[in-house]
Amino acid sequence: MALYVYKFGGTSVGSVERIKSVAEKVKKAQAQGDQIVVVLSAMSGETNRLIALAKEMQAQPTEREMDVLISTGEQVTVALLSMALHEIGCEAVSYTGGQVKILTDSTYTKARIKAIDDIKMRADLDAGKVVVVAGFQGVDEHGNITTLGRGGSDTTAVALAAALKADECHIYTDVDGVYTTDPRVEPKARRLNHITFEEMLEMASLGSKVLQIRSVEFAGKYNVALRVLSSFEEGCGTLITYEESQMESALISGIAFNRDEAKLTITGVPDLPGVAYKILGPIADANIEVDMIVQNIADDATTDFTFTVHRNDYLRAKTILEESCAALGARKVTGDNAIVKVSIVGVGMRSHAGIASTMFKALASEGINIRMIATSEIKISVVVDEKYLELAVRALHAAFELDQVIEAA
Ligand code: ASP
Ligand code: MG
Repeated sequence: MALYVYKFGGTSVGSVERIKSVAEKVKKAQAQGDQIVVVLSAMSGETNRLIALAKEMQAQPTEREMDVLISTGEQVTVALLSMALHEIGCEAVSYTGGQVKILTDSTYTKARIKAIDDIKMRADLDAGKVVVVAGFQGVDEHGNITTLGRGGSDTTAVALAAALKADECHIYTDVDGVYTTDPRVEPKARRLNHITFEEMLEMASLGSKVLQIRSVEFAGKYNVALRVLSSFEEGCGTLITYEESQMESALISGIAFNRDEAKLTITGVPDLPGVAYKILGPIADANIEVDMIVQNIADDATTDFTFTVHRNDYLRAKTILEESCAALGARKVTGDNAIVKVSIVGVGMRSHAGIASTMFKALASEGINIRMIATSEIKISVVVDEKYLELAVRALHAAFELDQVIEAA
């Protein structure tokens, strides 16, 4: 007998009909002899609706009250699914996060899970029941309701799977898996049968928003096999584990991109110890996250320093940098907020040379100018002008033959 945690997102439980079809799916799985724990999101749009209601009441509601409010969406769906299961003759019991109990710290609206009590769930499963748990929420040591951050139901599912030592955690969503890149940019993008946690983290943090990043980190930490699949179509989805598939010869698993980038450059900075700190310290103090950093040395003992930030932080970062420029006696500050980052991701890169040159050749043959380059063990990122994003993604997708099926099923 296998134990599965199934998580259904907001669109999968967005209406009475959809909740009924989730119930059918769960019943079918249980009938095959498996133990099933279901984690649900709120109905699609519900969490946003609740947040909007709060804003009408008070400009800055306390985070404690926000959590009491926004945790209710999931309480609705778990109760409804349990009813739907009862209706078709399937024993089921619903729990809020606090009832389970999912113990968190007290950081309202972005709490971290500290421990999960699996006793009640185990007893129910052993009694042949489907256990239905509200995602996205927990309770702190004082009994206060907490939530885990937007998209947090994914993390609830992974955490329950880890606590119960489930065989797999299935994330049912409105896409049928993880793709080689965004199909809206490259229609030839292909679903991957398998991807590693490390690759998934790079793909997710670079903008392939299939899973909450924290849930992938959690799954990696506790070695929970994760599978992303469609709620609406049959299929095996994408499996995310540590192992590199033996059958795959792909060097690159996917092309990720991020449209929200902006870059800033400060030139003619005296090349002295502490300069990087003097430039980036005030940026960090302003809570602005820095992504890529490049420093280059000039002949005249000065240095040029370039970094990227989120586009929303561009003007703020530029103002701070102009102040640093004067203080450091540097030459000038320039910037560009019409840039994007495109990255190739793949664990195959570790053991193969020449990947970077294939990448640069593909971009060159399309006449795309590379403005910045950064590499890590399993990723090469370039910054290019915004207008080249689609062209760059498609050129790289073709250069690494990602449209071709080279995986074993
Ligand atoms: N309902 C929450 C949200 O919209 C949690 C989730 O769906 O994962 O963010
Ligand atoms: Mg979600």
